[in-house]
Amino acid sequence: MIIGRFAPSPTGPLHFGSLVAAVGSYLFARSAGGRWLLRIDDLDRPRVIPGALDDILRTLEMLGFEWDGEPVRQSRRSEAYQEALTRLEASGVVYPCGCSRGEIARIASAPHGSGDELAYPGTCRSGLPAGREPRALRVRVPAEEISFRDAVCGTYRQSLAAVCGDFVVRRADGLFAYHLATVVDDAAVGVNQVVRGADLLFSTPRQIYLQRLLGFRQPDYCHLPLVTAPDGAKLSKRDSAVSLAAGRNLLTEGGALLLGALQFLGQPTVGILSAATAREILAAAVQDFVPERIPSGSAFFPLLER
Ligand code: GLU
Repeated sequence: MIIGRFAPSPTGPLHFGSLVAAVGSYLFARSAGGRWLLRIDDLDRPRVIPGALDDILRTLEMLGFEWDGEPVRQSRRSEAYQEALTRLEASGVVYPCGCSRGEIARIASAPHGSGDELAYPGTCRSGLPAGREPRALRVRVPAEEISFRDAVCGTYRQSLAAVCGDFVVRRADGLFAYHLATVVDDAAVGVNQVVRGADLLFSTPRQIYLQRLLGFRQPDYCHLPLVTAPDGAKLSKRDSAVSLAAGRNLLTEGGALLLGALQFLGQPTVGILSAATAREILAAAVQDFVPERIPSGSAFFPLLER
């Protein structure tokens, strides 16, 4: 049985990019007769925006999504994360690190790949230098490459040592790292199909490495193209802060939004009447789903211009 999931972060409302991830994961799971779970990634409490969770759930409901069971909230799962961390510590792969971000930035090699990632230079790897206080906990990474097959992006390879080095599993502020949390949560409910935005492709090897250390089964992965700004750049915080529900009656305009997401994912929409309700469109899209048609390149979608 396929078990898929959608894991929005309530750090903002449901925007078009997150709708694409919701639709993509829904189509993959439901077209295989599988379950589709909802998880709320509210681990990073200081970043949670009041009202965002309600907006996300209400919008999904209005668009006709039906999830199995109650949504799991990461903010209530600390015990499970601690248990996994204790297992990692017991196997000797975790060590305390006393470095601050600024110190790492000064000595780390230039970032590889995406974002603000800096490869940890390994300062505290063989013990905290004298006089240092432990801040974060890091997991030791191996020298070899991690590779996996992604349903949309093809084979992806990464050397953790070159890209991020030993990475944080518990942050200096005491919060569990997202990579650890997502791997523990997916394994706890048997998720075997992870469909999400391509911004997470780059972090997937870290998650696979943690699955291996913890003895979890590796799910199938599918990273969907990202919705970009008109010039192809990453969407700004301001763009992604606009709720799909803002200025729209989702009852009458929800169908058009879903059609937009389906078009973005390269899915056939000709057979789907534009007058159909959101729920009917979603059901028809599950029937007609052709995963091979999902494009791998991120792109602008004009729906955002309103
Ligand atoms: N919560 C993450 C996000 O909204 C997704 C996590 C995941 O799908 O693994 O970007």
